[in-house]
Amino acid sequence: MALASPITADAIPHFAQRFETAQPQEIVRWAIDTFGDGVSVGASFGGASGMAILHMAASIKPDVHVFVLDTDYLFEETHETMRRAAVSLDLQNLQVYKSRLTHEQQALQHGSALWMRDPDACCELRKVEPNRRALDGKTAWLSGLRRDQSEGRADTPIISWNNKFGLVKLNPLANWSEQQTWSYVVAHNIPYNPLLDQGYTSIGCYNCTVPGVQGRAGRWQGFEKDECGLHTD
Ligand code: SF4
Repeated sequence: MALASPITADAIPHFAQRFETAQPQEIVRWAIDTFGDGVSVGASFGGASGMAILHMAASIKPDVHVFVLDTDYLFEETHETMRRAAVSLDLQNLQVYKSRLTHEQQALQHGSALWMRDPDACCELRKVEPNRRALDGKTAWLSGLRRDQSEGRADTPIISWNNKFGLVKLNPLANWSEQQTWSYVVAHNIPYNPLLDQGYTSIGCYNCTVPGVQGRAGRWQGFEKDECGLHTD
């Protein structure tokens, strides 16, 4: 059963203004104090921002709900990062969500290599729908988006009402630069995906990720797409 949100949509502009000058750690603490068990942290174990958010949240509430979407096409390095982070950050409530379709069922129902023909449909099946289940009953979603990650993310709000999943969404690192994020990760000795040291700057499914390209341009090459659909309303 869904919890009632302690924050109404009307109150969002007030907090949006307040958080523009707040540190991410303050915003994460506010979210956990305000939403309690209603908070869920989305983790990809791909980028540095997500690792920083995980560290901030788990430091305050080790049993915070953390979810990862295992599309069945994650790099082994991503799985390894998840295992290391679970121990190192003492993640006590890490949940894995997968598509309702196995790789084989998807191929039978939609044809093989759907990501090469219709990546939006593939992302819907393997990311968006599982994300909906992960957030079912939650009232706030903490994510690691930053405004400097892509043109499309330049206006990322720190706090907003998310229509797609019906809850408050927070991006506490929206104002941070890549350098600030890495400084935090290094200072706190947080594990991160080793592919980030091998030329990958944005890491998703191995089917749709290439190294050697800056930012999110390394995702879904050949398509007019740089978001999987989780972060677009
Ligand atoms: S990133 Fe690629 S393989 Fe992964 S769910 Fe989206 S289209 Fe499918």
